[in-house]
Amino acid sequence: MKNIYTLLFLLFGFIGSLPAQTTEIDHARALDIYRNIISFRTAAGQDMVPEMASYLAGQLAQAGFSDDDIHILPVNDTAALVVRYPGNGNARKKPILFLAHMDVVDASPEEWKHDPFILNQDDTYFHGRGTSDNKYGVMNLTQSFIRLKLQGFVPNRDLLLVFSGDEETTQATTNMLINDYPDLIDAEFALNSDSGGGSLDATGIPLAYHYQAAEKTYATFEITATNPGGHSARPRQDNAIYDLAEAILKIKDHEFPVMSNAIVRESLRAEGKQMGGEFGDALQRFADNPQDKQAIQTILANDDYDQSIRTTCIATLLRGGQVENALPQRATVTVNCRIFPGTRVDEIQSALERVIDNPELNIVPLDEYLSSPASEPREDVVDAIAFAVHERYPEMQLVASMSSGYTDARVYRRAGIPTFGTSAKIIGPESSNAHGINERFPIKAFYDGLDHWIDIIQTLAGK
Ligand SMILES: [Zn+2]
Repeated sequence: MKNIYTLLFLLFGFIGSLPAQTTEIDHARALDIYRNIISFRTAAGQDMVPEMASYLAGQLAQAGFSDDDIHILPVNDTAALVVRYPGNGNARKKPILFLAHMDVVDASPEEWKHDPFILNQDDTYFHGRGTSDNKYGVMNLTQSFIRLKLQGFVPNRDLLLVFSGDEETTQATTNMLINDYPDLIDAEFALNSDSGGGSLDATGIPLAYHYQAAEKTYATFEITATNPGGHSARPRQDNAIYDLAEAILKIKDHEFPVMSNAIVRESLRAEGKQMGGEFGDALQRFADNPQDKQAIQTILANDDYDQSIRTTCIATLLRGGQVENALPQRATVTVNCRIFPGTRVDEIQSALERVIDNPELNIVPLDEYLSSPASEPREDVVDAIAFAVHERYPEMQLVASMSSGYTDARVYRRAGIPTFGTSAKIIGPESSNAHGINERFPIKAFYDGLDHWIDIIQTLAGK
């Protein structure tokens, strides 16, 4: 045994870390936290986030975190939890934030095989709302902080657990932290458990680990056609529903310009290499030359990849008319856009106006949307993630990636805190059904991931 440690020290000593080792007690604690937090129905409108935050605060206090370092910060009917792990300051560096969100998308028990708010397990999976998004992350960060504290680990800089309470809806908790508690969460960078992760093929062979370094900007527009209306027995050519229908078809046919950045090119190159074949080849050619027309055509023809190289806008909701026997006075379509980083929301609004080409129609954004920049990958962070991932899958390639969805990371990036998504999740092609019914998480991946954050923390804030 001792020789193994010597060998491990020789292998890993240069970055000052030994791989973490979980025990039965660690496994039991992790499962207990997971089971407890899944039982809180932390969906919007249920008011359960503050209770879940107090439960977690209690667990951390028991492990030795001082009450002065534990903050439950309410906003509306939800709350944020911020827990400081005080360091000795030897690194003379700003703190690191560790992010997760405590809220979930709601679930109707009658639609599920099992009660979504009671943790269930079969031979392969844990089942329950949040098992994947994002209560695995909440559990894993919490148990990591607890284990390190119990082991007497003192980081060389402060570490901060920062759990939000409404990531899936308004992100008011994260905005509150940024706006009202800038000193509490001031940090050099943030690591997010809510994105990033590794993929395995169906036989368990590692494909790639994607750490998230950018997100597309989210924006929703309502487009409305109005008309004086009249009796349906006296039809006219002008009609709010027809005007809107024409606009919808123009949006359907519009293609936003192809774009790329270093993160997207790196990720497409890596996937292309892995994939091989004609399509893999197109991804690599695009990465080498984003002007390559043939490669662009091939990528745009693929529904899984076209959104990675451009802005997309898609009709999602429709309503119109007032009664069955009157000409419609109003018809509205909701259009959801995922905007490539670097493009402003008002540029997309102007593009929609141009495409629709009907000044009678009214186009309004539903909210004030702000874009977030990409985070330039940093060597220290990438090395730490690589160390944790290679503990489990020594061959796994690390790739920076951009998400078409968004997380709390966009708020931090916008506030100037570079943020990287690096969940401990390394799973096969099966779906985790996040946001859908029968959400699940593979049991093997659950236990295999329990050292992920400890490896990262010891690498970034060890001696
Ligand atoms: Zn999430």
